[in-house]
Amino acid sequence: MFSKRMEKLSPYVPGEQPQDRKYLKLNTNENPYPPSPQIAEYLRSFDVEELRLYPDPLFSSLREKIAQKFGIDSEQVFIGNGSDEVLSFAFYAFFDGARGPLLFPEFTYSFYPVYCDFYDIAYKKIPLNRDFSINTRGFLDESDSCGLVFANPNAPTGMCLPLEEIERLMAGYPRDKTVIVDEAYIDFGGTSAVDLIGDYPNLLIARTFSKSMCLAGLRLGFAMGEKELIRALFTVKDSFNSYPADRLSLKIGEIALGDEDYYRTVTEKIISARAYLASGLQSLGWRVLPSLANFLFTSKEGIPGRDIYFRLKQEGILVRYFDIEGIKEFVRITIGTKEDMERLLQVILHLF
Ligand SMILES: *Cc1c(COP(=O)(O)O)cnc(C)c1O
Repeated sequence: MFSKRMEKLSPYVPGEQPQDRKYLKLNTNENPYPPSPQIAEYLRSFDVEELRLYPDPLFSSLREKIAQKFGIDSEQVFIGNGSDEVLSFAFYAFFDGARGPLLFPEFTYSFYPVYCDFYDIAYKKIPLNRDFSINTRGFLDESDSCGLVFANPNAPTGMCLPLEEIERLMAGYPRDKTVIVDEAYIDFGGTSAVDLIGDYPNLLIARTFSKSMCLAGLRLGFAMGEKELIRALFTVKDSFNSYPADRLSLKIGEIALGDEDYYRTVTEKIISARAYLASGLQSLGWRVLPSLANFLFTSKEGIPGRDIYFRLKQEGILVRYFDIEGIKEFVRITIGTKEDMERLLQVILHLF
């Protein structure tokens, strides 16, 4: 009844989306604010007749908008059904075990090893530095690899590499192997590496509408890189599903990109709530890693992350813990509104 391949699958486990009661959800890095009001306005006047036709398999209109925003050519842009799908296509297109393992940080987005198993790509995890930052030197010290992938800012640490360090890494790494920088959280204070794509034809930047654009439910992501890389992603897409992004999503993506003022305000609020939560936790004696993402990675000496998670859950607050040696003491807390963070700090003050 099942294929041989099924035996090897070990799927990614996303943060829980509970239906049993109303929680303060600080576990999956969703944005606490609604998407641009221009989207609601558009939907009110949406002509359903449009859904009769297939969408544009080249995503031309949205790619053009993204290209304008980032000052690149639309042929340097790819679109997918969430950046998870973009990453999956990219792993298929660029990595194989033949030239050595794919390298990624020991603690990073836990979907990467899942794609590796799915596509039979050998991988090697490179330990983080002692301060939990990504060890780029460690990537360069490996004599053998078929490519590199890391999130910047990294998840679940929230720590961000400066652009100069990414440039040094690119300069030292072979030009014939692809490097993916997953910038799911870059809008919350980091500097994008997108300006390097002209200099490094092996650099692919992955982005999502899920976090800073408040559109996790829409499923829209994109990648930016040299034309040759983008063409390869289209080849993979068109060997799998010609229409991963639908008409409505593509249009909503365009509207979201156009409303820069709204999203600037939302992002500023998140950054300010992050600073508020970080200083609140620190004043209660918690360790907080420096974050440029919309979450904090934090620990309280003597209390395992698992316990913190269960105690907060009883109070109606969901966070995320990782039962993995090396980061067991931490929880990852999504930044919500200022009011959310006030409530969380009150609860923490009482519980711990
Ligand atoms: C959330 C996240 C993604 C996935 O984004 P989607 O567009 O919702 O699929 C990719 N990479 C990292 C590091 C993320 O945290």
